[in-house]
Amino acid sequence: MIYLDNAATTPLDSAVLEKMLPFMRENFGNPQSQHGAGRTAANAVVAARDKTAHIMGCNSAEVYFVSGGTEAGNTALKGVCAAECNGGKGKGHIIVSAIEHPALIESAKDMQKFGFEVTFVNPDNRGIVSPKSVEKAIKSNTVFCAVMSANNETGVIQPVKEIGAVCKARGVFYYCDCVQTAGVLPLPAVHCDALGISSHKFYGPRGFGALYIKNGSKIQRLISGGMQERGFRGGTLDAAAAVGLAEALENAVNNAEVNNKKIAGLRDTFVNRVLAEIEGTHLNGDKINRLPANANISFDGCDGENILFLLDLNGIAVSTGSACSAGAVSPSHVLTAMGYDTARAKSAVRFTFGKYNTQEEVLKTVEILKRAVQKIRGAK
Ligand code: PLP
Repeated sequence: MIYLDNAATTPLDSAVLEKMLPFMRENFGNPQSQHGAGRTAANAVVAARDKTAHIMGCNSAEVYFVSGGTEAGNTALKGVCAAECNGGKGKGHIIVSAIEHPALIESAKDMQKFGFEVTFVNPDNRGIVSPKSVEKAIKSNTVFCAVMSANNETGVIQPVKEIGAVCKARGVFYYCDCVQTAGVLPLPAVHCDALGISSHKFYGPRGFGALYIKNGSKIQRLISGGMQERGFRGGTLDAAAAVGLAEALENAVNNAEVNNKKIAGLRDTFVNRVLAEIEGTHLNGDKINRLPANANISFDGCDGENILFLLDLNGIAVSTGSACSAGAVSPSHVLTAMGYDTARAKSAVRFTFGKYNTQEEVLKTVEILKRAVQKIRGAK
């Protein structure tokens, strides 16, 4: 298989697995247990939290382990809304960028049903959400704002620092979804009130993530239960996954420069060849402010799903729109929000490169892609 869907998920790094295995086998204790086995697991969780906090640039007490990016986003948005209701402010107003992952968009729609007012802020046609448009959307009762650090479909990087400053000046809680940028760009804890990461995006285990919440924030827990995560999130913690997340994050950060350069090189070779050798192709999103791994390309006269299907038949894995919402027939909400028409949005394919990809795979994909596009266009 040629795997070009690294924004959807990445394979577990074997070095990370080696660090996790002892906590699945011999040191399998529940970190809450008071015996030696429990203490061994608990100590590993403490070390993992410290490492994660150090990389995030915050205190260990500000890091909560969660099940991934979806839970992190749900917790931030709904937790702040719940706290605002309890604080007597009533049902306020929340801002979510129109290009957020469904974790935030659907959470906002859930809160709409409870009486919160929601503004979805559109990006410009490069896929960038401007700090000005966020500022314009803020009202006197705005309690929450979510704008991601980079988009999962286009890879376009957002002006997080400036948006953070706007929110801070107006007393609005700012959540930054950093699922696509953890281990690629520095994590912006200093510019926001909360941020979420997901370990399966940086060669760690699936089903695990971390949520930074600034000390002193007004936020209510969503998962009630035992005293895990200082009573903020009940449920037995997976010590192996915590160890895996911290190890994977540390590896990613330590090797970011080398990996980013290699991955951007592969991506650029791919994009340059596709745009030059296949007529009627368009790179979607800002050409400069983008993650090294992403290439989102529209192919005139083709359906993205058909390209995906033909590539899959040849053992090449890519995605259309967001992998998390694959199967949906509607065009990408991200490309639509950028102002692209349905034809361009529906003909888009996302190629995301990773540290295990090679130049040979890139060249082979270009050749197979050329034939696939020719076949689809010829069949019309
Ligand atoms: N946020 C973004 C930007 C994502 O790309 C994803 C997954 O693709 C998520 C959130 C959800 O993360 P998880 O799969 O860990 O729930």
